[in-house]
Amino acid sequence: EEERLIQSDKLSMAGQLAAGIAHEIRNPMTSIKGFVQLIRSGAGRKDQYFDIISSEIERIELIVSELLFLAKPQSVKFERTDIRQLLEQVITLLNTQAIIHNVEIITDFGAHEASVDCDVNHLKQVFINFIKNAVESMPDGGELTIRLGRGEGHTIAIHFIDNGYGIPESILSRLGEPFFTTKEKGNGLGFMISKKMIEDHKGEVHVSSKLQVGTTISVILPMA
Ligand code: ADP
Ligand code: MG
Repeated sequence: EEERLIQSDKLSMAGQLAAGIAHEIRNPMTSIKGFVQLIRSGAGRKDQYFDIISSEIERIELIVSELLFLAKPQSVKFERTDIRQLLEQVITLLNTQAIIHNVEIITDFGAHEASVDCDVNHLKQVFINFIKNAVESMPDGGELTIRLGRGEGHTIAIHFIDNGYGIPESILSRLGEPFFTTKEKGNGLGFMISKKMIEDHKGEVHVSSKLQVGTTISVILPMA
């Protein structure tokens, strides 16, 4: 009975994925088709149309590459890494974007030992996803605090604390569902992929949120 339950869970997951992929890829496809027709008819500004076509292709590419991450067993390359340095790198990468959106990134790293055996590229991707989500949750600007601390046992905790619009209860339970997004330009893959990557590191992700107050995403990782 339990086996069957697990099986049907898998099917619905596959069904969800298939529906999501079809939907996410059909939209840019439709737009590409339309612009190709426009170019063929000789109307309007070709270079502008080519730009749109390129960005639609990029959208498809991003979805495909994120899905491939789930499809094939990843060769995770673990190296001993200072999480502090990794966070600094990612913040440098995203700071301009944050400033454009009126978001101040505040770091509170303390003096904690933060050495972790991890796949640097995967964890970077996780941090990028959570920082982007935080910035996107503050359309009128705000603060994102990134705090490093100790978790329970031999773990470290990285908290991403925003004062954005928060996550309603009904959405909280759907976080991590493939293609679940509340954003016009979102693809709803970031959280799911991040959770998978963290679990590959034997870590955990916790979410706590209050509407109109903000959201805290906590990443717990085993210490090296
Ligand atoms: P996307 O960002 O493309 O929508 P994600 O998987 O990254 O996809 O996030 C899924 C959804 O979770 C978002 O659309 C949003 O509704 C919600 N969410 C995630 N992080 C936050 C956050 N920090 N504040 C508010 N909502 C969030
Ligand atoms: Mg996102």
